[in-house]
Amino acid sequence: SQEMKSDIEIAQSCKMKSIKEIATQLNISEEEFEPYGHDKAKLSLSITDRLQGRPDGKVILVTAINPTPAGEGKSTLTVGLGQALHKIGENSIIALREPSLGPSMGIKGGAAGGGYSQVVPMEDINLHFTGDLHAITTAHNALAAMIDNHIHRGNDLNIDVRRVTWKRVVDLNDRALREVVVGLGGPLQGVPRQTGFDITVASEVMAILCLASDLDDLKQRLANIVVAYTPENEPVTVKDLQAEGAMSLLLKDAMKPNLVQTFENTPALIHGGPFANIAHGCNSVAATKMASKLADYVVTEAGFGADLGAEKFLNIKARTGGIDPDLVVVVATIRALKMHGGVDKDQLDEENVEALKKGIDNLAKHVETVRSFGLPPIVAINRFLHDTDAEIDALKTWCEQQGVEVVLADVWAQGGEGGIQLAEKVVKTIDEVESSYKPLYPLNISMEEKIEIVASEVYGADGVEFTENAREQLKEYQRYGWDRLPVCMAKTQYSLSDDPKKVGRPEGFTVTVRELRPAIGAGFIVALTGNVMTMPGLPKEPAALNMDIDEEGRAVGLF
Ligand code: ADP
Repeated sequence: SQEMKSDIEIAQSCKMKSIKEIATQLNISEEEFEPYGHDKAKLSLSITDRLQGRPDGKVILVTAINPTPAGEGKSTLTVGLGQALHKIGENSIIALREPSLGPSMGIKGGAAGGGYSQVVPMEDINLHFTGDLHAITTAHNALAAMIDNHIHRGNDLNIDVRRVTWKRVVDLNDRALREVVVGLGGPLQGVPRQTGFDITVASEVMAILCLASDLDDLKQRLANIVVAYTPENEPVTVKDLQAEGAMSLLLKDAMKPNLVQTFENTPALIHGGPFANIAHGCNSVAATKMASKLADYVVTEAGFGADLGAEKFLNIKARTGGIDPDLVVVVATIRALKMHGGVDKDQLDEENVEALKKGIDNLAKHVETVRSFGLPPIVAINRFLHDTDAEIDALKTWCEQQGVEVVLADVWAQGGEGGIQLAEKVVKTIDEVESSYKPLYPLNISMEEKIEIVASEVYGADGVEFTENAREQLKEYQRYGWDRLPVCMAKTQYSLSDDPKKVGRPEGFTVTVRELRPAIGAGFIVALTGNVMTMPGLPKEPAALNMDIDEEGRAVGLF
């Protein structure tokens, strides 16, 4: 039966259109697109300029409750809603992040949706795709090589070798590279110093690529990256090293959004994929803006729950990119809400209306958050096989009592067909409800105040504690003129608080900011509230063990 097929088997059964046909449907001309094989293409940034005079399409952000091991299905719902809009005759497009190989080879499964709501060719998208991540890796490491060369060649910039903050990156989960020593082997091999590797998607270059409006802006932002400090504590930048030109050149094709299609041939732009903790966790501004010129409805996604992904989409990406979102879909599953209500992972298949009602607290907070940005929320229940009618009714009743629009969606099993009601509700709400999007805080207040506003209004915290170290850093940042940037909160995704064990809607807690990290090129200050892993490791049985290629050259075991 259909239910028994794996995501890759479904994806491989897709009747794809040629990518040229998809581009033609979007009125993209021959010169504006570059095919990468038969079913992927790069799009020229000039498309957005050409369509400057056209009104922007409506931007629908898909976010979720705090993730649980039960899984929420944001990507699946994003793709499904895009397909459903198409099915009801609307001109829609999807804008998603590109997957990283680290998690793909590790535990997570793909990042291309699931079931009958996937983007294709899913094996390419999940593997090397069009090489953007390789370009980012190379641009990042080219800078690292230039830093070490500069130090080796006499260090005119007086870089303190103990305070080089720029590490190297690779797009794999490889814990053995977290801490390394480079430059060993004597005077001809460079200057020895301790450093490490991050995963590529944690690179500031990725965050920059995703926030840059065009090649000029990209270059400017790369130039602003702080790579090290002098013994006098003065920042050393990419501009000082004159590396921004070469880095931009290496990124020239990676800056172009990638066009693919969904299982039902709806166009999709997949471009950029920064971490959702130390970065902002959304696809590129360039792709979202282009999408809003190419279609009437753009469905896009932000990472983790609304406390992280949507907050950063709305406070960082939309503000930086001049994107004016219209509506937010908050994805919830009965399973995950039951976990927020205290049910164990292995008991999720049993009906438990009481636990569900308790867990709804988590959803309630995220709905409030969406409203506090001036946007209308719609709750989408991503249907799973074991959800019971009593449970679904309980959630719908709560939403109705709160005056929140709610729709059951079954896009995983049914594709666009399973999201028609949701699509209709989305269109109707956008028609009827005036969105008045505004960021939660202005930029011209102190960094402390920005962090306090996010913690109290988005997390529901009583306050924020700054460690001695964080306070010192904030003082320095003021001196450098960095305190007028937005804040990028790095917090656990599993809880509204900074304690991953506190599920549901915790109360009476404070958030502790331990450390700050500047991402001046990207244009934000990262506030770390816990230990953030920027180079994940592989689990005991990595997903890679299931992967293979058959005699015809087809991918096997990729989720
Ligand atoms: P997220 O974007 O929230 O991380 P995904 O959309 O990537 O979640 O989905 C995670 C996994 O859950 C995928 O393997 C997908 O196939 C599966 N999944 C999503 N929705 C459903 C559903 N309604 N029923 C069964 N499996 C689902």
